[in-house]
Parts: sequence; structure tokens; C-alpha cells
Amino acid sequence: MRAYVHVPFCRQKCGYCKFALTPFVRETEVERYFIALEKEIAAFCDADVGLLETLYFWGGTPSAVGAERIGAVIRQFSDRFGWADDAEITVEANPEDLTEDFCRSLRGFGVNRLSVGVQSLDDRVLRAVGRTDSATVFRAFESAFSAGFANVNADIIVWLPHERPGGSLAALKALHERFPLAHSSVYLLEAGAYPKAWEGTRFEGEALAQEYEACREFLVGKGFRHYEVSNFAKPGFESKHNRGYWERRDVLGFGLSAASLWRGERFENAASFSLYYRGQKVACETLSQAQVKLEEALCGIRTFSLPAELVSDRAKLAEFAELWWLAERDGKIVVTSAWIIFLDHIMSGLI
Ligand code: SF4
Repeated sequence: MRAYVHVPFCRQKCGYCKFALTPFVRETEVERYFIALEKEIAAFCDADVGLLETLYFWGGTPSAVGAERIGAVIRQFSDRFGWADDAEITVEANPEDLTEDFCRSLRGFGVNRLSVGVQSLDDRVLRAVGRTDSATVFRAFESAFSAGFANVNADIIVWLPHERPGGSLAALKALHERFPLAHSSVYLLEAGAYPKAWEGTRFEGEALAQEYEACREFLVGKGFRHYEVSNFAKPGFESKHNRGYWERRDVLGFGLSAASLWRGERFENAASFSLYYRGQKVACETLSQAQVKLEEALCGIRTFSLPAELVSDRAKLAEFAELWWLAERDGKIVVTSAWIIFLDHIMSGLI
């Protein structure tokens, strides 16, 4: 089985963030939250879940609540479920939290994968979006590798305010030159995530597609597998947890607004703290055959494994694209800029 834990606290609010969270880490709130989380995990009573294959600490900023809290949750999962061979335990982290001591503690608790939010190495860009500086980013990776992590991801976001054309590619090159990264994610900021204040600060159109393409070429040229529209990994270092989503495998989500897919049903915890503390679910549905088909096709597009009939039949693909836009319009899926560029590639036969 696979599970994730939502840690909905951050030290600051990034200008482009749309996640449900309490922007600041407040000790009493964090304490209360982790007590509720412990209860939620303890209350999960399906007897036949099997061993844990992956556990993913997702945010928010999981690294902002300290290694001990993460360790306590891992211990609880160990006692409750036990681990499959080669289990993957990932923690999402922001650079300012990654001291060597912190990284060593995580390793001691069994964390074997780190996903670091870099976003840019241009200090002007980082300041504009409310994040730390590039020197802190480099120190963070030094700490992670000194502590012995071998499976480390760097997230980059293309299209942040003030980023120059070529800036994201330069950041990727600088990181990969200096550190033995096993994984990189290259996201394109969704146009809708842009606050009004940032208007006029980004490059547009073809240059955006070219930047994404240049990042892709660089990583593929380094031997990384482009295994999902925004994700690249050295062979054998693909995120097992995230692959599970794209293969539509069951996952249990714990914590505020966490969503689960479990035995054909989708359910989701409340996104407000008070409702979450009362154990309220906001959505619970049994998936219809049509929903499953659409999801399979969407995941197929993301992972370059489209159902055979879509690949061989362009008319069917166009029909599917139409379905996709409708699902987006109705708020059933969020289509990112990267997807749009990628779909263009498929339609024009480039990939
Ligand atoms: S660190 Fe992540 S979750 Fe937190 S505010 Fe920034 S983008 Fe949002």
C-alpha cells in the first residue's frame, strides 16, 4: 500500500501558492495538528492493507515542522503497517530547513528520498516570490549529500516573475554540475496562479515552450528518463510514490485536505482545520467506468503511455482532448501549461 501525509504549514507564503495551508508554523497549532494526525492514522482500520511500499510527506513544507515530528509519524506507520522491501520514504523540503543535522536525523528515521523546492537560482526571482536565496539552496544540497542522501530531487518552476529566458535552464545546469541529483521536476507555472502585481514580469509565448523544451533536452541529454510530463529521473530513480498516482494505484492520504483512492472509491478530508479535527470528509464517491477511463487516459498522456487506441487513432485523440478540456472547464482536473505544451507535441507528432 502507499500513503501520504499532508503537513499544511509553511514558514512563508510563496506568491504563487494555491495550496490549503496555514502559512506560518505556529507551535501550538502544529502540536494540535500532529495529535489529530496520529489519531487519524490509528483509526484507519482496514485490516487488509499490506505492507507500506511508499510514504510521502507532502506540503505545505514538511521540513518546517522539524525532523522529530516526521520521525514520530514514520514510527507510527512502522508499528501499524510495516514496510515492503525497497520502501520509499520521501520528504518534501525547503532549502532553509536542510541543515546537515536535520538531514542526518531524517536519514536516521528511514527517509531515503528528498524533494527540494528550488524553483529558481536567480535571487531577484526568489525574492519576488517570497522564497530564500540561491546561496541557501546550494548549502541545502551540500547538507543533503553530506548526510548521505543518494536520491534527491530538485524542483524548478519555469515562468516565475522576472525570470529571464534561459534562467531555468541555467539553474538546472548549475545544480546538476555541482550535485549528483537523481531526479528533477520542471513545472510550468499555471497562468491562473499569477497575482495581478506580477503582470508584465514574465516572458511569453514561444519563449516559454522553448524554455521547457531546452530543460527537457538538457535532462534527457544527461541520461534522465522523461517519465512524466514534468518529471525526469536517472533510470531506477523514478518516484515510486508518484508513479503510483499515474498508474492509478490505491493511495491513502492522511491530514488536512488529504485525498485517497481506495478500492474504487475516492474520499477527501476537510480542508479547514476545525472540520478536519472533527474528522469530517468533504467528498466521497465511487468512481464510474467513464471516470476511470478518463483518468486512465489522462494518466496515459502524462506518462507517455496512452491507451493503444488513442495513439493509433488521431480522431480518437482529438475527441479525448475535447473531453479533457471539458473536465478542466468543470473543475474536475487542472491542466497545467506543461500539459498544454505536451499535448501540442503529441498532436503535431513531435513526440
Ligand atoms: S512552500 Fe510550497 S506550500 Fe508553502 S507557500 Fe510555498 S509553494 Fe505554497
